[in-house]
Amino acid sequence: MAACGTAFEVKKWMKDGQSVLLCDKAAMERSGAVAQGLSAINTYVGENAVEDYVRMVRNDLMGLVREDLIFDLGCYVDDSVYLFEEWGLPVWKKDEAGKNMDGKKGQKMGTLKSGAQPVRTGKWQIMINGESYKRIVAEAAKLALGEDNIIERCFIVELLLDATVPNQIAGAVGFSVRENKVYIIKCKTMMIACGGAVNIYQPRSVGEGKGRAWYPVWNAGSTYTMAMKVGAELTMMENRFTPARFKDGYGPVGAWFLLFKAKTLNGLGEAFAGSDAAKKELEKYAPYGTAAITPTCLRNHLMLFEMKEGRGPIMMDTVTALAALGATMDKKELKHLESEAWEDFLDMTCGQANLWCAQDCEPEKKNSEVMPTEPYLLGSHSGCCGLWASGPDYDWVPDAYKIKARNGKVYKQMTTVEGLFTAGDGVGGSGHKFSSGSHAEGRIAAKQMCRYATDFADFTPTLKQSKEELVDLVYKPVRTFLDNCEYTTAIDINPNYIKPNDDVSPDEGHP
Ligand SMILES: Cc1cc2nc3c(=O)[nH]c(=O)nc-3n(C[C@H](O)[C@H](O)[C@H](O)COP(=O)(O)OP(=O)(O)OC[C@H]3O[C@@H](n4cnc5c(N)ncnc54)[C@H](O)[C@@H]3O)c2cc1C
Repeated sequence: MAACGTAFEVKKWMKDGQSVLLCDKAAMERSGAVAQGLSAINTYVGENAVEDYVRMVRNDLMGLVREDLIFDLGCYVDDSVYLFEEWGLPVWKKDEAGKNMDGKKGQKMGTLKSGAQPVRTGKWQIMINGESYKRIVAEAAKLALGEDNIIERCFIVELLLDATVPNQIAGAVGFSVRENKVYIIKCKTMMIACGGAVNIYQPRSVGEGKGRAWYPVWNAGSTYTMAMKVGAELTMMENRFTPARFKDGYGPVGAWFLLFKAKTLNGLGEAFAGSDAAKKELEKYAPYGTAAITPTCLRNHLMLFEMKEGRGPIMMDTVTALAALGATMDKKELKHLESEAWEDFLDMTCGQANLWCAQDCEPEKKNSEVMPTEPYLLGSHSGCCGLWASGPDYDWVPDAYKIKARNGKVYKQMTTVEGLFTAGDGVGGSGHKFSSGSHAEGRIAAKQMCRYATDFADFTPTLKQSKEELVDLVYKPVRTFLDNCEYTTAIDINPNYIKPNDDVSPDEGHP
């Protein structure tokens, strides 16, 4: 999402003689966290004040945030949402009677930019028919940047510093996942947005299901690792996001809580969130624990608290929620409501819909279990880890939040490595950007990168390593494997290497 924002924006600010290249290890139409689509845009400021957006993020992340970055993003994010709609993304609208209009009916109500009212689920979220969200955004990015400036299926493995200018980014090396090809790329400036980090913690799914996680498994931590290896400072890496999701399928709960107004019940059938025990537990985390809106992490903490107290499992009461909503609906409207419940999963986590089918689960008749997932590292969703990045050069922003380049100028979203920018999951200390915010941050970075490249027009990147050294670096893992795989009879057990699956999986026959 972030890189698509950069791709869409960058040519507007490029000067004559400048060139640009985008690399994605996958195919942009279905890459990254939005690959399966989404059913909501979680950051749309709309009628709210940007200052309140800052307050909400600060509260949800219990104060450990960078207000400067959040405020700046809040000023621009809606423009990305307007663009998505202009490019064809169906956004749900309210009609004159306050009824929800989705799909084509929603589109007929006019655009958000022209004043049409979105269907808000919470104060900041709006509903979309978003199965093709990523395709729509990627198509616009590709058209704006030009296919000649894009290499898909190019897996970047290492960033490269300049040979002569200290702490200056100068390029990257990667390989084609389809052909026997190594790419060595030189640049004056770069934006890294490879998403968050999944599978650092063993997923709950095991055996054949092991590739399943809530955040996408292909968010492999490249943003943090590659930037850290060239010296970029990281921040808030202790902030791990452990969301509560439908058990086994990792289905999203947002629409159930916010749109369908469902409650979670403990094993005794109690709506535990408002109980005296929960209030007492939350008081330990005041002032955030006692705030009007309980932060996401504390809501999830309450769930773990119930389980530890022996009051699990936790169930999403889909039956009561759908019955309550259906009470005022005719048969046709009720059918539509049920299909919305399915579409929520089909839009963004179709595996959960498959699971419901496999278990013969009809949400209007049977409740489903909800479970905390394994932890993830991310900076765009309800977590805030990432790279330490420069805030805007406003006078109210503390100096420590501004990163100056060697010319003394401040470049928004530049990391502590000169010329290396980031966006989306990469920007630390400012969570709750989600898809729209990541796109907007990509666009902000594009403008700053063009400024940087123009200001340092005289700089010519030179790489420290030779071509042969870089090719050797890329092939090292496979060479290590091929040189040593015959040392043992079981290919997974070897003192010379660790394979991704080299764990304690009992179904593979070793401890
Ligand atoms: C299940 C789920 C539900 C969500 N629900 C919502 C929602 O309802 N509303 C909402 O607004 N947001 C939602 N989000 C969050 C949103 O998807 C993210 O905030 C957003 O996609 C982050 O953007 P990004 O650009 O940082 O990362 P991504 O969009 O993940 O992009 C990362 C890109 O980097 C590429 N890449 C990674 N490593 C490399 C490498 N080494 N070399 C080259 N390329 C690489 C990937 O292929 C990908 O294209 C959800 C996310 C998930 C997973």
